[in-house]
Amino acid sequence: MNRLLNTDISTLNQKLKTREITCTELITETFNNIHKSKLNSYITLMEESALKKASSLDKNSDFNHLLTGIPIAIKDNICIRNFPTTCGSKILKDFIPPYNATVIDKLESLNAIFVGKTNLDEFAMGSSTENSAFNPTLNPYNPNLVPGGSSGGSAATVKANESICALGSDTGGSIRQPAAFCGVVGLKPTYGLVSRYGLVAFASSLDQIGPITHCAKDSAILLDAIAGEDPKDSTSRNSKQTGQYFNKLNPEIKNLKIGIPKEYFVEGIAPEIKEKILSTAKLMEQSGAVLYDISLPNTEYAIAIYYLIATAEASSNLARYDGVKYGYRIPESENLKTMYEFTKEQGFGKEVKRRIMLGTFGLQSGYYDEYYNKACKVRNLIASDFETAFKKVDIILTPSTPTLPFKIGERITDPLQMYLSDIFTVSVNLAGLPAISFKCGEYNGLPIGAQLIGKPFSEQLLLNTTYAYEQITAI
Ligand code: GLN
Repeated sequence: MNRLLNTDISTLNQKLKTREITCTELITETFNNIHKSKLNSYITLMEESALKKASSLDKNSDFNHLLTGIPIAIKDNICIRNFPTTCGSKILKDFIPPYNATVIDKLESLNAIFVGKTNLDEFAMGSSTENSAFNPTLNPYNPNLVPGGSSGGSAATVKANESICALGSDTGGSIRQPAAFCGVVGLKPTYGLVSRYGLVAFASSLDQIGPITHCAKDSAILLDAIAGEDPKDSTSRNSKQTGQYFNKLNPEIKNLKIGIPKEYFVEGIAPEIKEKILSTAKLMEQSGAVLYDISLPNTEYAIAIYYLIATAEASSNLARYDGVKYGYRIPESENLKTMYEFTKEQGFGKEVKRRIMLGTFGLQSGYYDEYYNKACKVRNLIASDFETAFKKVDIILTPSTPTLPFKIGERITDPLQMYLSDIFTVSVNLAGLPAISFKCGEYNGLPIGAQLIGKPFSEQLLLNTTYAYEQITAI
């Protein structure tokens, strides 16, 4: 029915506060929606603990914080103490972390309610959530289509009212691309704004945790809760702006300088997407923004560079799954070497193996300079393209994806085609920038995502601009 969940966090908070609804009712309805759903958004449900928490909040809480009692879904590569964290992989099927990720500690201290762990491409490697060892998630708009990936479970769960909001992780687009395919808002924070402690590492110089929500307001509320420096993550950085996003939301975009990069509107982009993004720009212009044509000339190298760097880091990060320290180990083996070999052979899926091999290749002595080192240099060029652009404009508007959601099975056998779905998102991670994807319209009943990219730590501007667009289009 979605009686309660088809709304935003502050409205729900108001209802909880005035006791118009109880938290138990809210959580019960969330699980009713989940049990009726055929989307396969979740790997693990936390129904018992969620209901227990709801009942205790009903008795003891005045719901003074916006997130108190609010159901939230967590991507299954973020650790919650005493619940499985599978990363969508057979190798971690039975892994139960004895600790919380920092983002989980923060949400727990506000008494948000964890509903469950959402499905993902194995170790967050993919763009469709088909690479999960726990079967694909389906798109809430049309079950024959993918929800995007790798945070497909988190995006689908928000759209289908199986939670009100979710956390995802984004290494090359995994928050923004599924947000675009499921018609919700996905924010990839500046590298270092949110602690990565307790996020299972894929490519450590690119990974960030971020919110997936119905709207900009909810995204701001969630970002307020999770952002900030963490002594447990030496790459987390202190930004003075944290803790203010929701209070400072302001839909004024008069004189905002928006850059439109020509490299994002080239061959290969679906015409309906190009048209919708350009009309989104026009609408913003009518509200007082000023449009500028800009160029990000090294965009054409982004996919190649991303896949060299991400696979190199992944091959190193995934070396720890050797059957000794974590998770799965084959039942019998002749010696240590065969134990390693067969554990990895059986525990990892096809895409993960492909990436480990690619990454190991790129890091080999003899190839290191030619591949990995060169990729790091071009990465700097991509970052300096953005720096140059931000001397002229405040924010950059692009499509989030080159196509509408594609069919399940359509790209899974063609990795290159799959990798191309990240063409508009990977540069942002390589440069460490923040970016947001929001639904700017529909075509044939399917959502189209627009992406806004900002300077480091300009999350407030990204949220404000998205909020502005939501106001403009609601009229
Ligand atoms: N689709 C990209 C990849 O497969 C990005 C994944 C991500 O952001 N986790 O690497």
